[in-house]
Amino acid sequence: MAETPRPGPSTLAVHGGEPKIRDDRALTQPVVLSSTYPFADTAELVEYMEGRRERPPEYGRYGNPTIAAAEAKLAALEGAESAVLMASGMAAITTTLFAMLRQGAHLVLTEDVYRKTRGFARETLARFGVEVDVVAPDRGAIEAALRPTTRVIFTETPTNPYLRVVDLRAVAELARSRRIKTIVDATFATPVNLQALRLGVDLVVHSTTKYLGGHNDILGGAVIGKRAVVDAIRDQLGTLGGIADPMGAFLLVRGIKTLALRVARQNASALELATMLEAHPAVARVWYPMLESHPDHGIARRDLAGGGAVISFELRGGLAAGTRLVDAVTIPKLAPSLGGVESLIEQPALMSYYELSPEDRAALGVREGLVRLSVGIEDVADLRADLQAALDAL
Ligand SMILES: *Cc1c(COP(=O)(O)O)cnc(C)c1O
Repeated sequence: MAETPRPGPSTLAVHGGEPKIRDDRALTQPVVLSSTYPFADTAELVEYMEGRRERPPEYGRYGNPTIAAAEAKLAALEGAESAVLMASGMAAITTTLFAMLRQGAHLVLTEDVYRKTRGFARETLARFGVEVDVVAPDRGAIEAALRPTTRVIFTETPTNPYLRVVDLRAVAELARSRRIKTIVDATFATPVNLQALRLGVDLVVHSTTKYLGGHNDILGGAVIGKRAVVDAIRDQLGTLGGIADPMGAFLLVRGIKTLALRVARQNASALELATMLEAHPAVARVWYPMLESHPDHGIARRDLAGGGAVISFELRGGLAAGTRLVDAVTIPKLAPSLGGVESLIEQPALMSYYELSPEDRAALGVREGLVRLSVGIEDVADLRADLQAALDAL
């Protein structure tokens, strides 16, 4: 029998993980709001406990049919065996690292990762005796940091705010020969632009708050990979309790249906705007993976289907020019977050790193004149005109 080709991202986004027909004949995923799941009788309870009967978990902290539907779709999108959905991206990251690390273990984290991820590793995990090194997101720096006790390499791609693209194949190869698990937070890439598991990493993490939900109306996070590892993380989740809620899971499934369409539009619009920004005299530098000027352009072209929605750029006029620009544009809203249908704009120095001094920000690599734009699905001509007018007025 001929092997069926793997469906494309749009087909997977619409149908992935879904049954051909549901028992209740509903086309869409029903929302199941129940905290507990009764047994018909003690015989069913005993069969379930002994693993002889398939049925929903007995209690809502251990699972829910709507959440399971979202997990099946996420696994399908990444071509994975299993996925677990949680309350937020940070719940997914913290629960995963708690499940995989213990006292005396060593964690390698790449710099330019989400600020709270670094904070969790450096402060919380350190209190539990986990040793942490933060290194540049390249193979050489990661290899140099490895120790006999290294258990996990955690990286992010593209990174925030400089959209560095990690050579995941090289990092996974390095780790596999030493029995180290690799985790990539691929929130900025999406399963449409990056199939990370195919490059050999063990686990993919997403903040589903961003592109996967896509409409800036939910928070969520997911961990996706081989069943045995995901099951261990799910077990840890049952204790830590940062579970997803069924309404949010429903909205996630609904949002994912248009993921491939949205991301294709965002890839195209962001590339156009990044090119325009790079040519503008008020702009000192642009970071966008699909521009030839980006340091990781080669890896991006090889491993990513698109550059995504986020563009970072530095204005010649520094912090004050950034503020004038952010306040002058009319379409992008001044807010954190990214990947949704609405364009959002912000100055990292004021949004995520406000309390730090300019010197401390510089030490973390956050430039004062930096602006981060997440391009939504508005008409690119309108976004272009809006940005152009604001830049020309600087
Ligand atoms: C937003 C984000 C997170 C945190 O996700 P929440 O859903 O806000 O908890 C983690 N990693 C990256 C790359 C993010 O963009």
